[in-house]
Amino acid sequence: MTSLNDIRSTFLDYFGRQGHEIVPSSPLVPRNDPTLMFVNSGMVQFKNLFTGVERRDYVRATSSQKCVRAGGKHNDLDNVGYTARHHTFFEMLGNFSFGDYFKEDAIRYAWELITRDFGIDKNRLSVTVYHTDDEAYDIWKKVGVPEDRIIRIATSDNFWQMGPTGPCGPCTEIFYDHGDHIWGGPPGSPEEDGDRFIEIWNIVFMQNEQFADGSMVPLDMQSIDTGMGLERIGALLQGSHDNYDTDTMRALMEASAHASSTDLDGDQNVHHRVIADHLRSTSFLIADGVMPSNDGRGYVLRRIMRRAMRHAHLLGAKDPLMYRLVPALVSQMGQAYAELGQAQALITETLKLEEERFRTTLDRGLKLLDEEVAGLAEGANLPGEAAFKLYDTYGFPLDLTQDALREQGRAVDTEGFDTAMAEQKAKARAAWSGSGDAADATIWFDVAEKNGATEFLGYDTEVAEGVV
Ligand code: ATP
Ligand code: MG
Ligand code: MG
Ligand code: MG
Repeated sequence: MTSLNDIRSTFLDYFGRQGHEIVPSSPLVPRNDPTLMFVNSGMVQFKNLFTGVERRDYVRATSSQKCVRAGGKHNDLDNVGYTARHHTFFEMLGNFSFGDYFKEDAIRYAWELITRDFGIDKNRLSVTVYHTDDEAYDIWKKVGVPEDRIIRIATSDNFWQMGPTGPCGPCTEIFYDHGDHIWGGPPGSPEEDGDRFIEIWNIVFMQNEQFADGSMVPLDMQSIDTGMGLERIGALLQGSHDNYDTDTMRALMEASAHASSTDLDGDQNVHHRVIADHLRSTSFLIADGVMPSNDGRGYVLRRIMRRAMRHAHLLGAKDPLMYRLVPALVSQMGQAYAELGQAQALITETLKLEEERFRTTLDRGLKLLDEEVAGLAEGANLPGEAAFKLYDTYGFPLDLTQDALREQGRAVDTEGFDTAMAEQKAKARAAWSGSGDAADATIWFDVAEKNGATEFLGYDTEVAEGVV
């Protein structure tokens, strides 16, 4: 079986042979982009090369980029455990041209790699193009894709923008049909969100520049940005539609089953998926210097951890579980990402400490949640106040409560949650403005400490979105 590690090498070697510089993944925390929470695509580290602000001694590059999509505009947290194709952490394989080759070569390289080197059955592939992009349409026709499998799409799914202004352009996406035993329809159809037709590769043609006054002009420097999910192409090459069947994910799920003495398949399976996924995102974030905290990036990390810990609890794990899976992760991915091994002790300790702390309130919080739900009418939403109490007293991030309720077909009254949060903040302020002396400042700190997390609502103004 071709492992994910082999597939990553095949991809990088292929583009290396086509004159691309093989560039290592950048860390998950963007170096010089405070508006972006985590790196969420391969192009982020090359942003300045696309805009022409920076030049390097290469004009084509290839990478396998660590990506996290668990907050901000690209948030796949709620998809984990529910779709076969989404992770919070994944690797994006990409090739990039900075004013060098353009549409024709980008399409030919992608087609050659997947149909010749990877040997994927052409008859199961379809592609989308932006509805006005006749050039891309004609190139696909020339490489041999039948016209009924070149689908014109008019939505923003096939038009990429770096931000509200700056480079932009149409894109083309390659889909694989895993067969009618899986629910879903071709791109552009109402059932496209199913897992039957899975998008494996997205190729962006940067050909225009968008200005603030609404005008759009052709760029002098035309560039290419592509992204293919390693786990998606891996699943396909390993004979499945499901990312969680790949060798790496399977090994982590097996470690989870083993450590919790539970079955891998059946009802428990979804818990192992979430745990395996969240183990990767949390470990890689810690390795890149993020620590759990009550705001910003650290709170996103804490939310992911706690979410995983609830699933560990549902498996019946009596002791902290996540930290015991770290060796499996390092053995799967430590060779490709040396930072994992280097940070192994820190990852282990951080996971252990967080889980020990959270377990003290998790049990009680879940009991309270059960009681609240027992009093609700069939299908009714959980009142915002109850969700706020879980958040405030038991340290349940809102999305954890939502995840728990979703299994029962319920949601949270988020407006009520926001109101309860606002009321509490107002109370805290009132307590603080009581008098002006220093003793009161300590009360304020106590209040802040006791009330814990401020919900992180995400960065509104992400500018580097990568392929979309
Ligand atoms: P989808 O429509 O399936 O959510 P996307 O269009 O959001 O995917 P892109 O932003 O185009 O994805 O990212 C480029 C590639 O990265 C995708 O074609 C896919 O192979 C992979 N990818 C994107 N999101 C994820 C994810 N959450 N987990 C795993 N792979 C992903
Ligand atoms: Mg997506
Ligand atoms: Mg898509
Ligand atoms: Mg896409």
